[in-house]
Amino acid sequence: MINRVRRAVKVEAVAPELWEPSGRIPRSYAAIVGRAAVLYPATRWPKATSEIVALTNRLARMWMARLNAIHTQYPLALVSGDDPVQDKRRRSALQYCRTPFFVPASGGRFCRNPSFCPHCWGRAVIALWRDVDGRLFSSPSPLRSSIADRGLELYSGCESSGDNVVRLRDRALLQVSLPLELPRVVQMAAVADCDALLSAPVCGLTEFLRRRSSGAASSAAGGLVRPRRFDHAALRRAGCLGGLENLALSATPGPNAWDDFLWRPTIRQLLVVHRDKAAAVSDALLQELPTHVADFAKVKTLIEPTRRKLVYAVADTLRYDASLLLHAPVEVMLMALRARTGLRLTTTFGCLYGGKKR
Ligand SMILES: [Zn+2]
Repeated sequence: MINRVRRAVKVEAVAPELWEPSGRIPRSYAAIVGRAAVLYPATRWPKATSEIVALTNRLARMWMARLNAIHTQYPLALVSGDDPVQDKRRRSALQYCRTPFFVPASGGRFCRNPSFCPHCWGRAVIALWRDVDGRLFSSPSPLRSSIADRGLELYSGCESSGDNVVRLRDRALLQVSLPLELPRVVQMAAVADCDALLSAPVCGLTEFLRRRSSGAASSAAGGLVRPRRFDHAALRRAGCLGGLENLALSATPGPNAWDDFLWRPTIRQLLVVHRDKAAAVSDALLQELPTHVADFAKVKTLIEPTRRKLVYAVADTLRYDASLLLHAPVEVMLMALRARTGLRLTTTFGCLYGGKKR
């Protein structure tokens, strides 16, 4: 089954170019944050701006190949199946979702599925960065989300050259990465057909995500990690002013490759602290963690960061989970999507609280 999916991906990789720019490639912070969060992690970091168009088309082809593989294997996974016309429209919107990585010459609609579409996630990252940047640097007021979502207007103002000297005085940013591993191995044999895929238990992932994001009681992931509101309260007691948290999802093959595998979520945080309290907050954070998490935790401190550094820190915190959404077997991707349905994996608190809900 897995081999069939991989063959389908290979055939579709020769699709024609989708996107051409309407003018020069924008170098605004907004454009950079979208590309750094989605385009480069999913393809590669370019050596020159001229490579961005080719990389965008490469990502668009990968995305179309993934959708074709899902459609072939599980035709009803992303559509309702009740109305053929609506289903066709939805499939088309997903496939040709307009890119946010430059201003494209041709139009195109948005599929509005930021939880898995790389283009829509890019737009969501840009909107969230605008909000964070506006709060920390008092930059021009963030655009309304409805306008930001339309795409073209994203690139007005906020040019990246010239204002790089602006610093976040007396503040520091902590970039935190807490990789986790859910204890239960998922058996692929349990999801051999579409019905099984859509009804099989996702082995701890749903419980973990619910517990972390909403604080609902659950024993399945108990002891591994606690609801995030407790962590955020503890961080604020230690002197943290606020932050941004993203729950990134990933999976790794087990002893029998993808026939059994493990979920590997990562908690990524960007914390705003007083410069003098950076070490204290970092220590408090690591002390609160269970040992098996603390051993792999990474905390990077940015003292008095510039706006440009904030761009890359936000992009890193919110980077697209390409290994799961584009490269893992289709079944694994669909299971992860089902597990996160209705849950907010990205949140803000303290001085960054109040951004657009997603
Ligand atoms: Zn989309």
